[in-house]
Amino acid sequence: MKPANSREKIEGRKAPDASRLVDIRFPVQVSGDPARVRQAIAKTLGCRVDAISDYRVMRKNLDARKRPVLAMWRVEVALEDEVLPPNEPAVTNFSALPEDARAVHIVGAGPAGLYAALSLIQHGLRPVIIERGQPVRQRRRDLVSITREHRVDPDSNYCFGEGGAGTYSDGKLYTRSHKRGDIRGALEWLVQFGADPSILVDAHPHIGTNKLPQIIERMREAVVAAGGHVHFGSRVVDITAPSGRVEALEWVDSATGERTRAEAQHVILATGHSARDVFELVDSKGWTLEAKPFAMGVRIEHPQTLIDAIQYHGEERGEVLPPASYRLVCQANGRGVHSFCMCPGGIVAPCATEQEQVVTNGWSPSKRNNPYANSGMVVQLEPADWEALGFRGVLGGLAFQRHVERICWEAAGQSQRAPAQRLADFLASKRGRVSKHLPTCSYVPGVVSVNLRELLPAVISDALAKGLATFGKRMPRYLDQDALLIAPESRTSSPVRIPRDRENLMHPDVNGLFPCGEGGGYAGGILSAALDGMRVAAAIAAK
Ligand SMILES: Cc1cc2nc3c(=O)[nH]c(=O)nc-3n(C[C@H](O)[C@H](O)[C@H](O)COP(=O)(O)OP(=O)(O)OC[C@H]3O[C@@H](n4cnc5c(N)ncnc54)[C@H](O)[C@@H]3O)c2cc1C
Repeated sequence: MKPANSREKIEGRKAPDASRLVDIRFPVQVSGDPARVRQAIAKTLGCRVDAISDYRVMRKNLDARKRPVLAMWRVEVALEDEVLPPNEPAVTNFSALPEDARAVHIVGAGPAGLYAALSLIQHGLRPVIIERGQPVRQRRRDLVSITREHRVDPDSNYCFGEGGAGTYSDGKLYTRSHKRGDIRGALEWLVQFGADPSILVDAHPHIGTNKLPQIIERMREAVVAAGGHVHFGSRVVDITAPSGRVEALEWVDSATGERTRAEAQHVILATGHSARDVFELVDSKGWTLEAKPFAMGVRIEHPQTLIDAIQYHGEERGEVLPPASYRLVCQANGRGVHSFCMCPGGIVAPCATEQEQVVTNGWSPSKRNNPYANSGMVVQLEPADWEALGFRGVLGGLAFQRHVERICWEAAGQSQRAPAQRLADFLASKRGRVSKHLPTCSYVPGVVSVNLRELLPAVISDALAKGLATFGKRMPRYLDQDALLIAPESRTSSPVRIPRDRENLMHPDVNGLFPCGEGGGYAGGILSAALDGMRVAAAIAAK
């Protein structure tokens, strides 16, 4: 085949620890051509092309540092009369639990809670999930009413409800916590419940908002079919542990206000980073909590075509290249500034969990085919930062988050509209200036022109301005006229850690209470939360 351009070259090497695993690199635009792939393998192995009887892609990545963008694949190869060994994703049988299976209560049906439930079934324990929000389908209606009517249901919204905060998201499944558990196993469950098997191969897999709800629904169906229980619309308001050992849980039905009390011995607390009432409950009991650093800032939105042009050096994206993403990080004013949860081809979403606040985050459909690219752009904050502003105590970070979310709500007219500013105006001078006109953007409730440089606390806006200017030096077109900042991005992670013993994973003050997932401070995304759920379930089974 004719080379795609004169600089095209094939590179490769044998993977270090396996005779038939080969790493190859070749221009991504020809990756749909099996003949080229065989050529690359043959060159790397030093064999004839016709000696390759079969191959299978084990890992797919891109190298977009230069033009042409290269595909970086790890392939497993069969030569001559060899046959590739089977490599089907494992399918787990979540078989029916025996009548006398012991119950474990799980508060929260996010990735941590759901994966804990599925793992408990494997261990012969009966999960009983208590979830404040609604099942995924019903939850979708509550999301529409945030966008259209600016009405936030405090129990069913972008953060709360079946599937947790990650349900209506980009569904990125990347984690750096490789030591935390069986990543392949966690991804295989997603495939078993309907995700595309490509997530097992892609270096940066994602699922998309349109596909996640059905996968989550199927997970819940598997839990129920095995004999687990799920209570929706049930907000846990009390955990009783009079002598340092969990004895009961109490929840309120969000429709009727009716209270239910259930005896419980093992409780997995998987309530996520936005369950402020849960942190307050733990604190009110006198159980240990720890303040922890977190990051806060804004969402930044660009036209996706601009990000493609920057990242692919002007190379045509065509059918082969995915909508481009980016990761940016620098130091400014002695603190980290970084991009967070970048959503190519995505939408900026209204993620408040209470009426009088504005919170943003982002999601993308599986094809990532919206015309905008958005990302959190956040500043690392330490407890001393909010203490200096008068937000003291272990829940000071939470109060500071609330404060910023409220001033944004007030500044944008006390609705789910969000305050926004052109990036150029944010950087215009030391004090910024209000944008005369805002570009169109993906945030459906609407944006209001506000000088974010003055609205946001200086500890955030000063570092953000410096960080953005640094990113602009690295990628000049990033400071494009149509780049828009929308505030605030305030729920990056939990501002509080609920401590637990390193071995038995129980809270040090409360026997039987297992803090889990992102709310406890043990995860930072869908996959790491899922892995933590599996880990906690295994710890309970071992007990
Ligand atoms: C819009 C958006 C997009 C995101 N995109 C991504 C992404 O692409 N990739 C990624 O890795 N991460 C993403 N995240 C973050 C990710 O969703 C979280 O890291 C992850 O969901 C944490 O899982 P969790 O199970 O620990 O907690 P959560 O998912 O927050 O789940 C907690 C659950 O507990 C329930 N709950 C809370 N309090 C109570 C109570 N008192 N009683 C009963 N139930 C309660 C909640 O309703 C919720 O369902 C996104 C988040 C949002 C909001």
